[in-house]
Amino acid sequence: NIRVRFCPSPTGNPHVGLVRTALFNWAFARHNGGTFVFRIEDTDAARDSEESYQQLLDSMRWLGFTWDEGPEIGGPHAPYRQSQRMDLYKDVADKLIAGGYAYPCYCTTEELDERREAARAAGRASGYDGHCRDLTDERKQAYEAEGRSHIVRFRMPDEATTFTDLVRGEITVQPENVTDYGIVRANGAPLYTLVNPVDDALMEITHVLRGEDLLSSTPRQIALYKALIELGVAKEIPQFGHLPYVMGEGNKKLSKRDPQASLNLYRERGFLPEGLLNYLSLLGWSFSADQDVFSIEDMVAKFDIDDVNSNPARFDLKKAESINADHIRMLDEKAFADACEPWLRAPHAPWAPEDFDRAAWERIAPYAQTRLTVLSEITANVDFLFLPEPVFDQPSWDKAMKGEPAALLTTAREKLDAADWNDAESLKGAVLAAGEAHGLKLGKAQAPVRVAVTGRTVGLPLFESLEILGKERTLARIDAALA
Ligand code: GLU
Repeated sequence: NIRVRFCPSPTGNPHVGLVRTALFNWAFARHNGGTFVFRIEDTDAARDSEESYQQLLDSMRWLGFTWDEGPEIGGPHAPYRQSQRMDLYKDVADKLIAGGYAYPCYCTTEELDERREAARAAGRASGYDGHCRDLTDERKQAYEAEGRSHIVRFRMPDEATTFTDLVRGEITVQPENVTDYGIVRANGAPLYTLVNPVDDALMEITHVLRGEDLLSSTPRQIALYKALIELGVAKEIPQFGHLPYVMGEGNKKLSKRDPQASLNLYRERGFLPEGLLNYLSLLGWSFSADQDVFSIEDMVAKFDIDDVNSNPARFDLKKAESINADHIRMLDEKAFADACEPWLRAPHAPWAPEDFDRAAWERIAPYAQTRLTVLSEITANVDFLFLPEPVFDQPSWDKAMKGEPAALLTTAREKLDAADWNDAESLKGAVLAAGEAHGLKLGKAQAPVRVAVTGRTVGLPLFESLEILGKERTLARIDAALA
């Protein structure tokens, strides 16, 4: 039975790299009929926050990820928040020390720095030099008597580590590059290096799919796993697959702090979760050579970790938007109307009245659906329909009201007054005729009408918009522009 985990730390806002990791794990589990475990790695009290934890849960739900075990739903390995599992880590750390797999290290930071510098200067490897590996009991007591505190350090074997990465193939790391490392702080707090593999072992994780930035911790975790197996804590070493880096602007690694990386940004701009996930799935994977828009179900049906590419993936906002636009078009009418509605109500649209006019919205929605890249764009496209007066946009006004629009607007008003308001074609005919009377083509003639009625030079098809707004309001707005 395949068991994967998604185990973020609740520090700051979720970012797209994290979402990609969740997605690949989730798709891998779903494709293989496996179990998707959601675990919260909140052992760093200084950096973790409850707010960020709530945000993670909320983001996972918004994205549509369902977890089989994890926060709020529990499961056979509960609890799934590491902050509630401290006794387990203490127990394993004690076993590791008792078994000789780990040892107390009394070196101070200054001593470590000094020796590291010296090693570097001499051209030697600069990892931990094994100073406290084999201290006698007397030596330990002497250090304790000096008032030194100690961390717990894991003893790395003096042999190369080789493993087959699911994405990158065979990887071998020489022992001088992975030296003994800390697993428990001087204050007794267990570190990521311990709690992450211990929980993977206890939760019987079979596949670890995570970002390439964690590749360097894998040889350490494999060594720790071997110790855990000998101690009877773990059953077998999971398989590891490291997902390629995501590059942002200027071909630099997309960092968590990069504004483009923030998941909330995509949510606030009105990405559809399925559009965003479709795009993120392409960061290191591809659906087929000639198709990059697909549903999440189709992705799951096709997802194979063997197809993940180890080359860095480039984050391309334009492409993300274009895929999202395709997903917006794929919604059925009602789903589209529902998805946009929040952007036509407070707080997105602070001007929106309590009794939102859903019927008017449903009439105009089809004209908007093919034109949006992100849902938030709907607000400016249809606010003219819901506001008592159109917005005032100086640049639009300057652009459309050049020359002598008054004469044209007066004629247009007359012709519109006489037109058939159940027929957008008739309204178009009216503006066309007004233009002809003043020697203007339709495009030039409709610009002042559009600005007078909607406030902006660009928007949805004008005559359909006028028809939906209605005769009375349209003419009143033209009158106001003329006044
Ligand atoms: N909590 C770790 C992180 O967010 C998990 C890393 C892993 O997947 O092993 O970086």
